[in-house]
Amino acid sequence: MTVCLLDYEEGEKRIMDYNKLAELLFPNITESIADLEKRFTKRDLPEGAEVTRFAPSPTGYMHIGGLYASLISSRLAKQTGGVFYLRIEDTDKKREVDNGFEKIIKSLEKFDIRFDEGPFDDDRNNPVYAPYRQSERKDIYQTCVKELVRKGYAYPCFCAEEELEAIKQKQEEKKENIGYYGAYAQCRNLTLEEIAEKIQNKEEYVIRLKSAGDPENKLVFYDLVRGDIEMPENFQDVILLKRDGIPTYHFAHAVDDHFMRTTKVVRGDEWLSSWPTHRELFQVCGFEAPEYIHIAPISKMEGASKRKLSKRKDPEAAVDYYSEKGIPVDAVAEYLMTIANSNYEEWRIANPDAANTEFVMSLNKMSNSGALFDMVKLNDIAKEVISKKSIDQCYAEIEAWSAEYNPEFHEVVVADSEKFKQTIDLWKFTNGKVRKDVGMWSELYGMFEYLYKVGWEAETSEELLTKYGAENFKLVLQTYEQEYTVAADRDQWFSDVKVIAEKVGYTGDRKAYKANPENYKGLVSDFCAIIRIAMTGKENSPDLYSIFSILGGNEVKRRLRGYIR
Ligand code: GLU
Repeated sequence: MTVCLLDYEEGEKRIMDYNKLAELLFPNITESIADLEKRFTKRDLPEGAEVTRFAPSPTGYMHIGGLYASLISSRLAKQTGGVFYLRIEDTDKKREVDNGFEKIIKSLEKFDIRFDEGPFDDDRNNPVYAPYRQSERKDIYQTCVKELVRKGYAYPCFCAEEELEAIKQKQEEKKENIGYYGAYAQCRNLTLEEIAEKIQNKEEYVIRLKSAGDPENKLVFYDLVRGDIEMPENFQDVILLKRDGIPTYHFAHAVDDHFMRTTKVVRGDEWLSSWPTHRELFQVCGFEAPEYIHIAPISKMEGASKRKLSKRKDPEAAVDYYSEKGIPVDAVAEYLMTIANSNYEEWRIANPDAANTEFVMSLNKMSNSGALFDMVKLNDIAKEVISKKSIDQCYAEIEAWSAEYNPEFHEVVVADSEKFKQTIDLWKFTNGKVRKDVGMWSELYGMFEYLYKVGWEAETSEELLTKYGAENFKLVLQTYEQEYTVAADRDQWFSDVKVIAEKVGYTGDRKAYKANPENYKGLVSDFCAIIRIAMTGKENSPDLYSIFSILGGNEVKRRLRGYIR
C-alpha cells in the first residue's frame, strides 16, 4: 500500500511522501501493525477473564505502593481466571541496578505474588507474548512508529535543547501553553530532503506524535474506581521514540498493553494526567484502549498534612523493610487487603480462618483517596496472624528469617529445634489460651533473650529492688536456691514454691492475708514475682513453670545465685 499525503503549509504546496519518510527512518523494519496483530493473537480466555500486569522498572527497589498495586492486579486476574503477567520496563538504563529484576521478583515471591507469565526461564515465558522486557521489544515499537510515520501521524524532530528552550521562552512571553505543538512544532515542516540531509549529517533526532488535539476540547475519562473525570484533550507532540530509538513510557504503554492484551491497567495515579496522551496514542495506532484503575499513593501524616510515603524519607516505604523486621508476609498482605477493599475486615470477621485469596476483590469497594499507612494497625494484624500460626509454622518462619537477618539468633534457633519450639509455645499460650504478644520475628530475640541464652545476666532496676526490698530479695532467692529441686511436674513445682514461700513469711492463703496483711510479707504470687525477676529480669513474663522447664535446673540455680552474690 502506498500512502501519499499532501501537506499544505503557509500557502505553499509541499508534497511529502510519508512512505519514503518511513523508509528513510526505519529501513530495516519490514513488518506492519497488521502483522503484529496476527503475531500477538488475542488471548483465548473465558468471558470476563482479566489480563493484568505489574510493570516495574528494574531499580531493585520495591515500594510498598508497587506491592499494593500488584496485589490488586494479581487478584483481579486470578479471581476471574485471567492472566497476571510481569513486564520489565527497562527503557531507562540510568535507573537500572545490577540484579534489579531478581530483587523485585524475590520481594514479590515472598509475598506470594506469582506471575502467570513473564521473562522467566521456564514455561511462564509464553512465546506468543514474549519478550517481556521492553529493552527486547525495540522492533515492535519501531514497527508501530514506522506505520504512524507512514500515515502522517508521527515525524522526526531534530530540535536541540536550546531550540526547545527558545520555544518555551517565546510561549512564556506570550502567555501561551508551554510545549512542542502546533505552529511551534517547527520540525513538522521539514521537507523529506531536509530530513534526509540531517540524517546524512548524523544529526540526532526523536520521533514525535503529530497531535491532532486541541486543549479547548474536553474529554471525559472513566476510571473504574474514580468514575468520570474531565480532562483537556492532548495537544502536545509528545515524544514516541527517544534519540536511542527506545520508546517513552507513554508509547511503550500503548504498544505493550495492546499487544500483550492487557484488559485492566492498575497503576499509580501519577499517570492519571497522562491519560489524554495515552488515549490519542491508542487512537492513532488503531488500538482499543484497556480499562484503567488509578490508585492513590499510600500516605502518612507529617504534622497536620498528609504526604506520600517516600523512598527517600520513610524506611517503611520499602517492601524489604517488612522482611527485615520479620513481619510475616501474610500479615502485610492481610493489611494491604484491608486498605484495598472497605468490606475486607467484615469478611475477615465472618471468615476468620479462610485464606485471604478466597476474598473476592471488588472495584466498587476500593478507596479512591490515598490510604494512610497505619503501623499500629499492621502490628495488631501481625499479632493476630502470628497467633493463628502453628508452632511448626512459626519455627519455620523464624528459622528462615533469622538465617537471613540475624545469624546470632539463628544459631540459637537451630541449636536445639525442639527446645526452641518450647520457647514458641511459651509466648504463644498461657494456660492453653492463645496470646497475641509477638508481631514481628525481629523483636523475639530482645523480648526473650533470657530464654535463649545460657549464662544470661539480668539487670534488675533499682525500682524493682526497692519495690520488693533489696534485703528481702536476697533472702527469698537465697532460701529458694537452697531448697529448690527440679520438680516432676507443674503441681509438684508449685506446691514446693508454696512451702518455701511460707518459710520466708509469704502465704498462699488469700483470706488470711486479707484479714491480717501485716502478718505476712505478701502472697505466694509476690514471692514468685521475685523469682521471676531473677529468671527474666522482668516482673511480668509468660508462665514461670514453663520458663523453668526450658532453662533447666542448673541454669535456674545459676540465675538464683547470680542475684545472691
Ligand atoms: N513502569 C511504570 C512505573 O513504574 C509502570 C506504570 C504502569 O503500571 O503503567 O511507574
